[in-house]
Amino acid sequence: MKKIAVVGAGISGLSMANYLEKHNIDYHIYERRKKDDLAGHGFLIPQEGIEYLSHIIDSSLLFQHGTFLKKYIQYSHKGKILAEKELNNVFVISRQSLIYILSQNILPEKITYETAVSLSDSKKTLVFSDGTPLESDIAIISEGSKSRIRKALFKDERIRAVREFEVVNIIQSKKIAACIENNFMKFHHEDGGLTFGILKLPADTILWYSQFDSEKYKIGDKCSVETLKKYMQAVFKDWHPLVASIIKESCYRNVHLWRVYELEELNPFYENNIVFIGDAAHPLIPFTSQGVTSALKDSFILTKYLTEERNITEALKKYEAERKPEIEFHINNGRALLNQFLLPPDQHSKNILPISYK
Ligand SMILES: Cc1cc2nc3c(=O)[nH]c(=O)nc-3n(C[C@H](O)[C@H](O)[C@H](O)COP(=O)(O)OP(=O)(O)OC[C@H]3O[C@@H](n4cnc5c(N)ncnc54)[C@H](O)[C@@H]3O)c2cc1C
Repeated sequence: MKKIAVVGAGISGLSMANYLEKHNIDYHIYERRKKDDLAGHGFLIPQEGIEYLSHIIDSSLLFQHGTFLKKYIQYSHKGKILAEKELNNVFVISRQSLIYILSQNILPEKITYETAVSLSDSKKTLVFSDGTPLESDIAIISEGSKSRIRKALFKDERIRAVREFEVVNIIQSKKIAACIENNFMKFHHEDGGLTFGILKLPADTILWYSQFDSEKYKIGDKCSVETLKKYMQAVFKDWHPLVASIIKESCYRNVHLWRVYELEELNPFYENNIVFIGDAAHPLIPFTSQGVTSALKDSFILTKYLTEERNITEALKKYEAERKPEIEFHINNGRALLNQFLLPPDQHSKNILPISYK
């Protein structure tokens, strides 16, 4: 069987490894971070993503670590209900938990941590940081939205900052958990371009996130924890008391500020024996809530063609042909959801769900 190298052990690299494992295909993962360095936020995952996850992991473990949401409730920033929608099997889980679950089936000797891979200067081979070549028949690149291998390979690519950034935090609070049940609450500023979402994870854990129009709200990338806390308190001080109290009581040590990027145009998903999956192939903006599901589908489809086709190029060609149209659909939906976010809520269209569905 062919030798497969996977670069990156985020959601896409680990789901790929699980699918390869399921088909008894040998592989090795190289991951830049330390094993326990699991910074991150949480994911909303639609039903389709849960179905793909259930092919490769123990669903009961998944359900212990996350929550099915009952209802999406859209509020004005002062707390008036603007719209409500029942949710059908939309799940929420922290990134840390999902990575933990996806790692369960991977033997420790199949992952090397603290090892970065890049493209050689000749652009023909992949190399480790000491210049040693990475030997493989197929290299599956799952190194995230700012993939350096992709950038080095497709030198004309243009990545641009999206007009939105997010501040995300996970906190523990029995009191707040009791108020929100399993609903997905999202507060919207009446002028548009500023929202605050609240979701409950198991064990009184709360995931909150705020989305900012980066043209209206400016904050430096390297601001200190204290500066960010003061900024958040000032921006949200007049909001509904639940939002203001979450902002005030949160510990900011683990808070994340995410700048969001997208490709002006998608690159090919492969070149020779190097193939891209997940955000490395196609960054999707958070509004779509499709990043995880798309990474899972990439892994599933790529594994399918790698097992069905004798010829690697044919397998990669079929993978790209099957995945690209759907990704383009979500990119367009993401842009529409971004434009809607920038508008006052009374100008939003009827589809209020912050998820891109096909
Ligand atoms: C704020 C925010 C909110 C989001 N919300 C949602 C949501 O609700 N639902 C959803 O489905 N999606 C969401 N997404 C998108 C989702 O996070 C991504 O689509 C998903 O995490 C992609 O996973 P990935 O494995 O492709 O990339 P990543 O998670 O970025 O993983 C890449 C991995 O590669 C490693 N790596 C990088 N470079 C190298 C290298 N050179 N060598 C070796 N290893 C390397 C990194 O350390 C990392 O572990 C959100 C994204 C953001 C920013």
